[in-house]
Amino acid sequence: MPFSVMSMSSSSEVGPVPVAVSAVGLRKSYGDKTVLDGVDLRIPAGSVFALLGPNGAGKTTVVKILSTLISGDGGQAQVGGHDVAASPDAVRGVIGVTGQFSAVDGLITGEENMLLMADLHHLPKAEGRRVAGELLERFDLVEAAKKPAASYSGGMKRRLDIAMTLVGGPRIIFLDEPTTGLDPRARHTMWGIIRELVTGGVTVFLTTQYLEEADELADHIAVLHDGRIAAEGTADQLKRLVPGGHVRLRFTDPTAYRTAAAALTDATDDDESLTLRIPSDGSQHDLRTVLDRLDTARIHADELTVHTPDLDDVFFALTTDDHNQPNQPKAAVR
Ligand code: ADP
Repeated sequence: MPFSVMSMSSSSEVGPVPVAVSAVGLRKSYGDKTVLDGVDLRIPAGSVFALLGPNGAGKTTVVKILSTLISGDGGQAQVGGHDVAASPDAVRGVIGVTGQFSAVDGLITGEENMLLMADLHHLPKAEGRRVAGELLERFDLVEAAKKPAASYSGGMKRRLDIAMTLVGGPRIIFLDEPTTGLDPRARHTMWGIIRELVTGGVTVFLTTQYLEEADELADHIAVLHDGRIAAEGTADQLKRLVPGGHVRLRFTDPTAYRTAAAALTDATDDDESLTLRIPSDGSQHDLRTVLDRLDTARIHADELTVHTPDLDDVFFALTTDDHNQPNQPKAAVR
């Protein structure tokens, strides 16, 4: 494995950071298929953590173990200060879980779903109505509140699901692929909701297949691959794991291409596509230097694109065997 696992907290931090979720050596197999092969996690309270991995990587399995729905075959985990194996009820008392195993009952209305949750949490009737009403309003579900939940759109169901989770006032929320299958608008609404939760002091444990989502929301990201955490850190730390920032010049005239290749000795050339890649970190200063060099050498490319490594690069580098994936241009400079 070419990438080392990063520490979640730097040694220069002063004082202990409260930890909402921690796991050491989590293991789980189904038959002879090993799904989790020693997963370690450490999630500071009040942060958003994204567990990133392709379909079937074992993300839901991690969530199920941490939320006490299933037990692991090995390892230890603490959630909200409670051991998941020794004190599952205490864990359940501080968490909310939504996602692929949604709690929404489609046959009853959104409001009835909320009131049912309030009952489950033993809230007095009046208090239950107040909390349900507030949450329905907060999640923009007042108009739909009297309609059966089965008639809701995907985005509305997810919002109702989160609203139901919040009835119990959880400190830690697990969101298992909260935006899978949602259209872009509903996805953005969900992102806003997740950000708001964290502003209120809740710790969010999110699983996602979407790099963009992890990049947008998460303070810390861990990439799950082959049953282990292949890398973790902030989005920026992860991006620094892969090289590949460059300026790409494309030519249509082979003579112009050859002249440029001769002048730019540090560029990687590709004779077939008549392109040159000049290493660059994509910063304004660096781009100015590159452009000055091109002007001085009287090089006029037909197309110039800037590529800075993004989470896609990290993800592909970590989850494919070929660590020299060609980088695609991401931003064009006119
Ligand atoms: P993800 O959430 O990353 O898509 P899952 O945790 O749902 O992945 O599943 C990981 C692997 O474990 C998959 O290969 C899945 O088929 C397998 N798996 C999950 N649950 C069971 C089960 N109850 N019995 C057998 N295999 C399972």
